Amino acid sequence: NLFDRNLKIEINTDNKRLTLKEDKIIIAGPCAIESYDQLLKTAEFVKSKGANILRGGAYKPRTSPNSFQGLKDEGLEILKAVKKETGMAVITELMDIRELDKLYEVTDIIQIGSRNMQNFNLLTEVGKQDKPIMLKRGLSATIGEWIGAAEYIAVEGNSKIIMCERGIRTYNDYTRNTLDLAAVPIIQKETGLPVVVDPSHGTGVRYLIKPMSIGAFAVGADGIMVEVHPEPENALSDGMQSLNFSEFEDLMNYIK
Ligand code: PEP
Ligand code: MN
Repeated sequence: NLFDRNLKIEINTDNKRLTLKEDKIIIAGPCAIESYDQLLKTAEFVKSKGANILRGGAYKPRTSPNSFQGLKDEGLEILKAVKKETGMAVITELMDIRELDKLYEVTDIIQIGSRNMQNFNLLTEVGKQDKPIMLKRGLSATIGEWIGAAEYIAVEGNSKIIMCERGIRTYNDYTRNTLDLAAVPIIQKETGLPVVVDPSHGTGVRYLIKPMSIGAFAVGADGIMVEVHPEPENALSDGMQSLNFSEFEDLMNYIK
């Protein structure tokens, strides 16, 4: 087995050092970074309610080239500034090896998105890094394929891998994806790696985020990642699956 079951993945925030599998992590923030104000406002709010890691996409993998593609380099600069301002640890997606250096400089966790789960060159490259990698399950990936992808990272020497269940495509027509909560204990048993559940992409439906977050912790997830936006109805991406501030507060009250 390529995974180091005893490895502690640690993430520093301004007021606490988080240890995966010991501390539950709550990753929250907008799908995409849209402006400094949007990100700062969201970060301050989610932090005040107990989120410990800020998410925000700068490079966005969108289905259509006509959709908002992210602020890219400018988005990274905003993430860097908001991280400094709030002291939060941050996570953002790496889509292309050519962006690794500048993204590495800003982010605490490197996210590999669903669409790149089997981008083996990208996996090999992040496997050479010393920062934690969050590997999202592929859109239609089996658990075996997902573990295989994690092995591509581990084999290069980086065992700091966080697995993220974000739903898979099925025949279900009421949700964007089908959130596979059974994958959580399976991954934990097979790999020993921490598992984070993303009910936002996992369902694509706002009212399902709270019940599925509760479900995630009930089955032993090490954390959740939820999309939060000051005005979901005006979000440039994934508004229908983003919580507004009062909905996030309600979720956090329940979780606590
Ligand atoms: C994301 O979390 O920003 C994202 C694009 O999700 P996924 O890769 O799971 O579709
Ligand atoms: Mn999204």
